[in-house]
Amino acid sequence: MSPFREKVLGSTTFSFEMLIHRVVLDSDNPLPSCPTCHDLLDLHQPDEGRPARLLAVCLSCSKWYLWLDEDATADRMTLFELPCPETIRE
Ligand SMILES: [Zn+2]
Repeated sequence: MSPFREKVLGSTTFSFEMLIHRVVLDSDNPLPSCPTCHDLLDLHQPDEGRPARLLAVCLSCSKWYLWLDEDATADRMTLFELPCPETIRE
């Protein structure tokens, strides 16, 4: 059985504004929360070889963030807010 391989029909580029959130973690509760609604973020590590690159998802407001922990200090982090599907489709 051969593995499924998609066929790339073309590629294109688009530009968008990306919000970058610089966050100071609360020392009493160091779990990261959503900069938009302040609910706790659900963290995912898509690449086992790169533990400092996390996908952070807010299950309350459905925003997604890329968390690059490579240059973070113990109490600070940077979250890059990913565009929503509606923005990508426009
Ligand atoms: Zn949220």
